[in-house]
Amino acid sequence: MVPDAEFNEEITAFRGLLARAERIVALTGAGISTESGIPDFRSPGGLWTRGIKPITYQDFVASEEARLEDWRRRFRMNEDFAAAKPNAGHLGLARLMQEGKLLALVTQNIDRLHQRSGVPDERLVEIHGNSGEGRCLDCRTSMPLIEVRRIIDATDASPRCACGGLVKAAIVSFGERIPESKLQRANEVAEEADLFLVFGSSLQVQPAATLPLIAKRSGAMLAIINRESTPLDHLAEIAMHRPIGAVFSALYPQLVSEVLGSV
Ligand code: NAD
Ligand code: ZN
Repeated sequence: MVPDAEFNEEITAFRGLLARAERIVALTGAGISTESGIPDFRSPGGLWTRGIKPITYQDFVASEEARLEDWRRRFRMNEDFAAAKPNAGHLGLARLMQEGKLLALVTQNIDRLHQRSGVPDERLVEIHGNSGEGRCLDCRTSMPLIEVRRIIDATDASPRCACGGLVKAAIVSFGERIPESKLQRANEVAEEADLFLVFGSSLQVQPAATLPLIAKRSGAMLAIINRESTPLDHLAEIAMHRPIGAVFSALYPQLVSEVLGSV
């Protein structure tokens, strides 16, 4: 079979799943944002293959040097996030939500591109938080990033809360626990799904690796759209190893021409 015919067949099957479903829940990982120019971690060309190692929670707590480096990276990353635009994947999911088919979106991403494409906060479970503010590690009081920057510029030291605690970006760092309430909410929405969709996650980190299983156990169908294969492909009704943009271009041609037309 020629590749195009195979792709069309996959899209037809995927359309069929979407049409039958009434309670769709989606999980997105770093792969949905690569077409907006934000690199993922594990792909060729991703941050890890370029030798950029994450600063862990333990590093952050132990060392002032690590804290300042973490904040420097954070500010640089936030500039990249602000310059990026939601792509066909983000907009396609927002469209599915507007159509009333997509109940909730669980994301591992911290870039806020789902909000910027029109997904309301109450429908979004950001399991890894987002990098839009700082938060005290002891009393959880938030600190605006503009204040963090002012303190670092004025004192050359990382910010502290009024209570004396360390302030860290409100994301879940490597080595840090995901808040229990977030995990519970992600599990609950996975249980409600009759179709669970995965976009751009290697499904190698928790809880991403478990959420599709929870959905399946509750009777959902599963579709995985990821460039590379994942450990859960064999459980999926559909596993498409395609760029997410190409899939949404085929599903919503008009939407994509609007996006491209506006760039
Ligand atoms: P990952 O880097 O482990 O995997 C991303 C997956 O997406 C890969 O398997 C890759 O094949 C696939 N992919 C990349 N581009 C794609 C495309 N255009 N179409 C289809 N598939 C594509 O990412 P992960 O599993 O999400 O976990 C890494 C963690 O790093 C996440 O939990 C997230 O918190 C964090 N992170 C976030 C961002 C962001 O906010 N945009 C960026 C990098 C990392
Ligand atoms: Zn505090």
